[in-house]
Amino acid sequence: MNASGGSKASRDYGVFRRSLNRQNARLTESTCKNCRSFVAASVRPELLDFIEKLHFCIMQSQFSSTPAT
Ligand SMILES: [Zn+2]
Repeated sequence: MNASGGSKASRDYGVFRRSLNRQNARLTESTCKNCRSFVAASVRPELLDFIEKLHFCIMQSQFSSTPAT
């Protein structure tokens, strides 16, 4: 369902925070808000989506109770 009108500019990137590179304005940097580590930088947002999915967050792993065997 795509409602026209009422533009929502804010997109939810989950735990990732995206900001533009200071030296290269076309380059978008992605940083994890959980572990505060740099994840990726790319001019392609879809590539950031991909790399963010690959990010194994050390902070997130603390919450999941996986038995250490
Ligand atoms: Zn993380």
